[in-house]
Amino acid sequence: MAEIIPIISKSYDSNVYLILDEKRVIIDTGLGSTAMLKEVEKHIAIEEIDYVINTHAHADHVLGNPAFKGADVLIHEKDAQALVEGSLYSTSRMFNISGKFKYNKLLKEGDKISLGKIELNVLHTPGHTPGSICLYHKDMKAIFSGDLVFAGGSFGRVDFGGNSEELKASLKRVSEMDIDILYAGHDRIVEKNAGRDIKQAYEIVEEFI
Ligand SMILES: [Zn+2]
Repeated sequence: MAEIIPIISKSYDSNVYLILDEKRVIIDTGLGSTAMLKEVEKHIAIEEIDYVINTHAHADHVLGNPAFKGADVLIHEKDAQALVEGSLYSTSRMFNISGKFKYNKLLKEGDKISLGKIELNVLHTPGHTPGSICLYHKDMKAIFSGDLVFAGGSFGRVDFGGNSEELKASLKRVSEMDIDILYAGHDRIVEKNAGRDIKQAYEIVEEFI
């Protein structure tokens, strides 16, 4: 059985999700805090992670990437540039960090990432950033939403490389999907009926943006 281990942040840092399947995967690496890395190490050695998947190139989701030395970094083709340059859509300045990051594989709409038992479908869901993605697990009706949408019907900001019209279109798309579980980039997990939270987010954006 594949296992999904959420590491939920209690601060502005992003959530980190560890998936243990035939491949070992980290979805977003947050600020790379020692606490997060220790949490991962309770389950697996850091060097044994095969893939790091970034939902988008903001500092609070990618700063921990270099800690996973043996892993291939996967990111959407439209966010790769911001990652490599290290600008991270100006969030590097916000977090007062400098440095460039590397990636190994570019993702695009429709890609399937096979981890063994689990397969993740890549949805290109721009708006929060141009290359933001969600990862959908069909059998579990679960979505890793990055910063597109959060529990309780809130949604990602658009002032660090984003676009509100794209955000609206992406929320519409995801709100029409069959989703039970929401593993968002911040805040708590929604364990069931998460489609409701997502529809709420879309309704708010549709009305006000
Ligand atoms: Zn973000």
